[in-house]
Amino acid sequence: MQFSSGRGRLKQARLAGDRRELYPHSLQFYLEPPTENISLVEFESFAVDRLRLLKVVENLGVSYVKNNESYKTKLESELRKLKFPYKALAEDDYEARRKDHISHFILRLAYCQSEDLRRWFLQQEMDLLRYRFSELTDCLRQKFLEHINLSFEAISEDLKNELANDLCTSTPGLSMPKVKEQMFYKVGLADAVDLFRARRVFIKDGFAYVPLKDIDVIVLNNYRTKLSRALALTARSLPSVQSDERLQPLLNHLSHSYIGPDYSVQKNTGKISLEQIDTLSVKSFPLCMRQLHKALRDNHHLRHGGRMQYGLFLKGIGLTLEQALEFWKKEFIRGKVDADKFDKGYAYSIRHNYGKEGKRTDYTPYSCMKIIMSNPPSQGDYHGCPFRHSDPELLKQKLQSYKIPPSGATQILELVKGMHYQLACQKYFELTHDVEDIGFSLNHPNQYFTESQKVLTGGREVKKELSNSGNSQQKSNGQENMNTNSTPTSSNTTADAELEGLEAYFTED
Ligand code: SF4
Repeated sequence: MQFSSGRGRLKQARLAGDRRELYPHSLQFYLEPPTENISLVEFESFAVDRLRLLKVVENLGVSYVKNNESYKTKLESELRKLKFPYKALAEDDYEARRKDHISHFILRLAYCQSEDLRRWFLQQEMDLLRYRFSELTDCLRQKFLEHINLSFEAISEDLKNELANDLCTSTPGLSMPKVKEQMFYKVGLADAVDLFRARRVFIKDGFAYVPLKDIDVIVLNNYRTKLSRALALTARSLPSVQSDERLQPLLNHLSHSYIGPDYSVQKNTGKISLEQIDTLSVKSFPLCMRQLHKALRDNHHLRHGGRMQYGLFLKGIGLTLEQALEFWKKEFIRGKVDADKFDKGYAYSIRHNYGKEGKRTDYTPYSCMKIIMSNPPSQGDYHGCPFRHSDPELLKQKLQSYKIPPSGATQILELVKGMHYQLACQKYFELTHDVEDIGFSLNHPNQYFTESQKVLTGGREVKKELSNSGNSQQKSNGQENMNTNSTPTSSNTTADAELEGLEAYFTED
């Protein structure tokens, strides 16, 4: 017994030593890919957790002033909840650092696949780094800068006092008391070109004297350059990733990922009638589905992409197969399709969606990410996400026609401009339901419907509850995820399979 526990301790000590070496800082630039083997289960759960974290980063970034107290508190709580490093000073968070490292690289693989994905990933990772860098103590910041080879030297108090007047006059926004408070760094001109060009920094003997408030700009610029380049390089390894049948389904799923409850489980099956759909489409459908419903009623037809997106959504809100057949048939035969043609040409694909034909897969309603990122609509199509795929002017007109007040429409269009499509949709929800704070993170059109029904059927009380319980709502979503989605739904992996050689995809050739 003693012998075995002794060996255990030895092993533990060795492991701890290795980790300290691997992860000397709680913050990283992710310069080296992970080299260890990890199980597919860990691969998926790390990736899903990081995606959840980045979505919170995106949400907070448009709801709060970045790095104000509320922003920091909420982000820290999310990092803590998802077991990522959350305190700069934590000594023994090696597991969290490992998760941070590996999960970053997994999402890098998933999000290098298109320009849109790369841009989104880069933005959220930058915001995350900005927050975490700002949380470092002065001493840790210095160590981190050395670690990433940006070893700027903080100038001594004596030198600062000597240069105080020059620093004050050459650095916009800094009064003398602020100069006394701030730490200044001596930076080579090459790293401070932007500040130098904008005449925002004091220069002496070939060095820029950069205040702490601007050091993060230099660090972030450097990180952006490195990560952009790394994403472009990773994209070059896509053919080999795509030929790896263990990875490809996982990565595709992640880049189109939805991290909420599984809406293929139809708790409401049979609970809505066909007569309700027109009213529901106005009151409780998200804009994408409202648009599809209207197009179907107007044209008595939808092309394949629209039938898939809308048909699966309707299935998710509770339409039975029989109802779906009746609904689509009634509408199509009002147009150019006769009953016989419908039965031969269209009924099959509806039964297929319900798992009654072909491979008998019970298809899942599309998530927002899938709708936003794949199969963009072309001329004559009505599927897609109106916040992503509509011309802004047309979107504005549509919002006006749906009685969204001009100030609300402006807010929505601003979010669209910043490519925050799901947040624009959340704003649309708030405005159409008279709710101040949506209280959940929108990821799925069927989630929109469910939450809308809660508000509308519960009246003011539910509305209040929804606004007050934003965090608990997210928590409950999170818990559900842990149970149902700790492995994303499309995964076809073996639970204890090991994944080796991940670093091969990040090696420069
Ligand atoms: Fe539909 Fe999602 Fe776009 Fe909203 S954000 S319109 S729910 S796809």
